[in-house]
Amino acid sequence: MKYECICGEILWDGNIPNNIDLHVYTDKEMDKIISMGQIDTLDIPDPEHKIWRCSCCQRIYVFEKNGTKIIQRYKLEYQIKA
Ligand SMILES: [Zn+2]
Repeated sequence: MKYECICGEILWDGNIPNNIDLHVYTDKEMDKIISMGQIDTLDIPDPEHKIWRCSCCQRIYVFEKNGTKIIQRYKLEYQIKA
């Protein structure tokens, strides 16, 4: 999937691994996964929401549950220089 960030950067998750696809689970989602019993890391399902971070401006995009439509966009407000 490809998406042009509002800053102009082209985001693309075709490279695996990549630097834009964040794997974010709610505590409830993770609890449900863990309760399935012994699991191999390869068996961990994708999170319900795909979340991308632009590698240029650090904006965060949240996609609809199990979908490809963006439902939220966050702009970086503050960052501590590493
Ligand atoms: Zn951007």
